[in-house]
Amino acid sequence: MRTPIVAGNWKMNLGTDEAVELARGIGENAPTNGVTCIVAPVSVHLSSVAEALAASPVLLSAQNMHWADSGAYTGEVAGPMLKELAVRYVILGHSERRQYFGETDEEVNRKVLSALEQDFRPIVCFGETLEERESGRTEAKVEFQVRAALSGLTVEQAERVILAYEPIWAIGTGKTASPQQAQQVHSFIRDIVGERFDRSTANSMPILYGGSVKPRNFGDLIDEKDIDGGLVGGASLKVDSFVELARIAHSV
Ligand code: PEP
Repeated sequence: MRTPIVAGNWKMNLGTDEAVELARGIGENAPTNGVTCIVAPVSVHLSSVAEALAASPVLLSAQNMHWADSGAYTGEVAGPMLKELAVRYVILGHSERRQYFGETDEEVNRKVLSALEQDFRPIVCFGETLEERESGRTEAKVEFQVRAALSGLTVEQAERVILAYEPIWAIGTGKTASPQQAQQVHSFIRDIVGERFDRSTANSMPILYGGSVKPRNFGDLIDEKDIDGGLVGGASLKVDSFVELARIAHSV
C-alpha cells in the first residue's frame, strides 16, 4: 500500500507572514492520517514555516538543494543547512529549474544522490513538452529522465525516492493531463523502475502527478491505479484548496 501524498510547491511566492499564515491554516485543517501532506516554501521561509508547522503532521520540503555540502556556490543552499531547519523532502529536477536555470539530467542525478546520502526523500520531477508529446516522444523522454535521475542508486536508496510526473504543457497552464494520459505514463514509469531495480521497489515507489491539479480534477486522477498523489503549484497557495486536495487523497 502506498500512502497518498499531497505536496505543495509554493514556488517563488508569498511574503514571510503570508507563508506562515498559509502553513498554519494547512497544519490546523489537513487530515492527520491516511495522507502525507508536504509544503515547499522558498528557502528563506523554511525556518518560519517549520516553526508554524511544529505541532502539525504537515512535513517540510525544500524546492531545490545543491549537491555539495558547502563551498563556493554563490546563491545556493546545501543539504546540511536544510537539515537544520527540519526539512525532510527536497524537490529536484523541477521543469522550471531545468528550463530557466539550465539544470541538466546529470546535475539532477548528483543532487538526488546527495539528498539520499543526507537522508532526505527527494521528489524527482520529470515530464515532456507539448512538442514531444505531439511527436510521439513522451515515453522516450520520460524514460531517459527517470533513468538518468536514478543512475547509480542502490535499491535501498531507490526505496526512499518519490517520483513526480509533470507534463510541462500542464504546469501552470490550466491544462491537465487526462487521468488516462497520466496513468499511462505512471504505469510505464513504474515498469521502468521495476526493470531498473525490482518489482517490489517499483510497487512501493510513490509516483505523483503534477500539472494544474485542482480539487475539481484531483479525484479522477488519484483514482487511477498508479497515481499516488499530487505535486501542486497554484492550488497549494490557498488553505481551502490545499486542504480539499488532502481530503480527496485521504478518502481514496
Ligand atoms: C508545479 O509547480 O509543480 C505545478 C504542477 O504547478 P501547477 O499546479 O500550478 O500547474
